[in-house]
Amino acid sequence: MKYVDEFRDGQLAQGLAAAIRGEAQPERRYSFMEFCGGHTHAISRYGISDLLPDNVRMIHGPGCPVCVLPIGRVDLAIELALEQGVILCTYGDCLRVPASKGRSLLKAKAAGGDIRMVYSSADALRIAQENPSKQVVFFAIGFETTTPPTAVALRQAQTLGLANFSVLCCHVLTPSAISTILESPEVRQYGSVPLDGFIGPAHVSTVIGSRPYEFFAEEYRKPVVIAGFEPLDVMQAILMLVRQVNQGRAVVENEFTRAVSRDGNLKAQNLVADVFELRREFEWRGLGLVPYSALRIRKEYAAWDAEVRFQLRYQSVPDNRACACGAILRGVKHPRDCKLFGTVCTPENPIGSCMVSSEGACAAHYTYGRYKDVPAVG
Ligand code: SF4
Repeated sequence: MKYVDEFRDGQLAQGLAAAIRGEAQPERRYSFMEFCGGHTHAISRYGISDLLPDNVRMIHGPGCPVCVLPIGRVDLAIELALEQGVILCTYGDCLRVPASKGRSLLKAKAAGGDIRMVYSSADALRIAQENPSKQVVFFAIGFETTTPPTAVALRQAQTLGLANFSVLCCHVLTPSAISTILESPEVRQYGSVPLDGFIGPAHVSTVIGSRPYEFFAEEYRKPVVIAGFEPLDVMQAILMLVRQVNQGRAVVENEFTRAVSRDGNLKAQNLVADVFELRREFEWRGLGLVPYSALRIRKEYAAWDAEVRFQLRYQSVPDNRACACGAILRGVKHPRDCKLFGTVCTPENPIGSCMVSSEGACAAHYTYGRYKDVPAVG
């Protein structure tokens, strides 16, 4: 296939759905987690759950960058804008993530903070060059996909000797989040989140390759199929997972061969390793403190590290008690299990982070109306 439309062909999707129905054994249940918010979005948008038999169930995972951003990190960004008077640059989705005390970056902007939406780290760098009398901070979030561009910006800042630019680094790592889910009591002890396999991320895997998932397949006996973000990619991956489960296999398979190799993008990996190092631990919304799950800026680039430059101290802040985002990100709950879903909490007025980005489970279910007839979790 050559064009994107071909990966959205309804007839081919029906054929794959028939194959899944034919191969899924009626006497067993299949529960697969799509780790990535891009897959969650595709599943909701194209109604993929509606095409699956009742005994094949998709569970949403934590792979949505703004969903896992803890309140305390957004608070740091707001502090920089309102108290330190910096120009704070970040991606659009970050602006509406709820922070503490009913705040968000958007509200901080309305209160006078110089907060700017950018499309890339290069935009933030340009803003710093255009405003030499102001400190400019790039609030960098996201998984392995967005980390290399942040590394490029830091290297350029060093090369240019740009003294008014720095990065508030909140980049997180996919493999440690998957480990945390597999080690969680809900999966290991109580079995309340039955997990038979994973759909592996698309864009993240173009960078890290398929090799890092081999550990999960071997150690936890969980099949992983890396898939693209188009509906036929997802359907094909589900079929491949059903086949692995039926055959008692647990290996890494790659459906997204048009973009992902076993080793990934070595140039990007080397760049990231040059600029960043592992944090000992990092707080994720929903998963709590996860060891070695995020990156910090190496001391060679400390002059461009906003946490060092502004002596920021991280303060953990509990989530809104009525919001079920934490449980949704661990696969324990479904968006419709939250009492606020679609009433108090909507994409226009998000109470939790899962309602902010189109990749968030609550926003995807709200936007595409798939919440009405999805079978219950558990
Ligand atoms: S509907 Fe809103 S409040 Fe409920 S879990 Fe989702 S984001 Fe949180």
